[in-house]
Amino acid sequence: MKRTPLKRKPANRKLGRFRKPLRAASKKRAKRNREAAAKRRDWVTEASCCDICGTRQNLCCHEFAQGNRVECYDNPAVILVLCNTAFGKEGCHQFVHAHGAIWGFVRCLALLQLRRPQHYNLAEACRLKGWKVEQSDVDYAVDLLKVRRVDERDIA
Ligand SMILES: [Zn+2]
Repeated sequence: MKRTPLKRKPANRKLGRFRKPLRAASKKRAKRNREAAAKRRDWVTEASCCDICGTRQNLCCHEFAQGNRVECYDNPAVILVLCNTAFGKEGCHQFVHAHGAIWGFVRCLALLQLRRPQHYNLAEACRLKGWKVEQSDVDYAVDLLKVRRVDERDIA
């Protein structure tokens, strides 16, 4: 059977060149990202040193609930201030990411409670993580952090 050829205009290739690339984030999301980045900078300034090793350089915020990023990245209840790898020294941030078994959720919570009790909020952190953690669990982890020096990076 012979088909009637489609009567379609050839694609206008010229147009494609002027098409704007897709935005990485919507305007609303981009605004939120900027606000979150500002808050995270403030927390780094406020903390002024790494929560684990105490260095004052190459600091950043680490979101330890690893949940919904949009909900978590500007929530101080699930954020630690850690150092990044620089000048041949492995950063605590990279260490924590590489050793999730050592730096689990409860241990991170314990560290936050020790370093920034004003940001510590167990109920909020549990909501973001979707876990149920008792205060007694965190207290136990705090005791372990106190026994072993935190910056030993050791398993407690
Ligand atoms: Zn550090």
